[in-house]
Amino acid sequence: MELGRLDETGYNSLFAFSCIAQNSDRYIMHSDHSHAPVLDAATLISQAMERARVSGLRRTKALEDVIRILIEASGPLTLGDLAESKELKSGADKATVYRLLMKLEERGLIRRLGLHDRSAYYVMIYPGAHNDFLICTKCGVIEALDIACPVEALEKKIAKQSGFSKLYHELEFFGLCPKCG
Ligand SMILES: [Zn+2]
Ligand SMILES: [Zn+2]
Repeated sequence: MELGRLDETGYNSLFAFSCIAQNSDRYIMHSDHSHAPVLDAATLISQAMERARVSGLRRTKALEDVIRILIEASGPLTLGDLAESKELKSGADKATVYRLLMKLEERGLIRRLGLHDRSAYYVMIYPGAHNDFLICTKCGVIEALDIACPVEALEKKIAKQSGFSKLYHELEFFGLCPKCG
């Protein structure tokens, strides 16, 4: 599958967002990376919809909206971000969006990120792509890990030794961001 091709740094351009800065009581994404996406959003959306269909999810306007918004977002989104976004054209209420997020998470299409005492963030999972994040335990800033992933080599070794195929990993590193440290 031609998903999540990596650039020379090993960093997937699809996750090119850098910082979620705190602004009063909510988080605003700042995208100041200039990587162009490897696949266009429309292709990613149709691939995600197909994965949703295969996993048994009924195709609804709300489902399509949620998937599209998550893919087009420059970073992880909260339930509130999704439910209150003007892009949610189906007008689904918060409870509906929440149920959809649960279903998508159960089926491995999206991933829930974050800290227990804060609202969770959701990101799309792209098969074969990197999903590693740095999370500040003090202010809640989330950044995509912008280094060549050292786990890749380990993954290959594990696959070889165990006979498992299609290995993937999802890492969350917690710590203090430069501002809070
Ligand atoms: Zn911080
Ligand atoms: Zn990794």
